[in-house]
Amino acid sequence: MIRPWVLGSVCAMLMAHGAAAQGDDDAARDDFVTANLIAIFYHELGHALVDLLALPVLGQEEDAADVMSVIMIDWLFEEDTAQSIAMDSAFGFLEDPENSQEVAYWDVHGPDEQRFYNHICLFYGANPETRAQMAEDMGLPPERSDGCPDEFALAADSWGVIFDQLEAETNPVPILFDASRSSPKDPTVAVIRDEVAQVNQIFKLPAALTVTVESCDEANAFYIPEEATIVMCSEFAPHLADLFDLHWKE
Ligand SMILES: [Zn+2]
Repeated sequence: MIRPWVLGSVCAMLMAHGAAAQGDDDAARDDFVTANLIAIFYHELGHALVDLLALPVLGQEEDAADVMSVIMIDWLFEEDTAQSIAMDSAFGFLEDPENSQEVAYWDVHGPDEQRFYNHICLFYGANPETRAQMAEDMGLPPERSDGCPDEFALAADSWGVIFDQLEAETNPVPILFDASRSSPKDPTVAVIRDEVAQVNQIFKLPAALTVTVESCDEANAFYIPEEATIVMCSEFAPHLADLFDLHWKE
C-alpha cells in the first residue's frame, strides 16, 4: 500500500514508479540511494563554491545549492541516467511521510514538496522536448511547467558565470577525496569518490576542498567552511534505503 502522505499527483507517480521497480527491488533501492547521494553531494558542492569563491547569493543559499545540484545532474549524465537520478532525488526530498502535515516553514530549506517541484521544474526546463513526459508523470502542472525553461535558463546563466570562472582558473587545486575516516566497506565511498573524480575533470578550484565519507551519528551531509570540507555522513545511505522502503513498500 502506498502511504497517503503526499499530494495526490505525487502519490500517483509514486505508484507508477513503484510498479516499475517491483521487478528488481534491490536494484531500484540501490539506484535510489546512489541518485540521492549524488544529488546531495552536488548540493553540498554548491555550498562549498559559495564559500570558496565568496559568491554573492541573491536569495536563500539552500535554494542556490539545490539549483546547482540539478544543473550538475543535467550536465554530467546521459539522458536516461540523468532522468532517473533527477526523479529519484526529487522523491528523496519527500523525507518524512509520518509527519508530512508538520511543515517547518521557519526552516532554511524550502518545504519538501516545494523542493520536489522546484527540482523537477528545473530539470524539465533544461530539456523540455525530451522531458515533457517525465514532467507530466511527476505531476508538474502546466501552471508551473510553462515557465520552467526560462527558470532553467536563468539558473544556468547564473551558475554558468561561475563555471566559466572555474574553467579559466590558472592555479587549480584538485578536490581531495580523503577516505582515511571512511569504513572500507561503506558503499557511499565509491559513489562519492567517482563524483569527485568527475568534478576534478571539469572544474579547477582556486582553493583546497576536501571531501570525506564518515560516521557522524546522523543521516546528513555538511559543508564545513572552517575546514573547507564536505562531509557525507555514512548514515545517509542506510537512511535513504529505509526511505525507499517507506515510499515503495508496505
Ligand atoms: Zn544545504
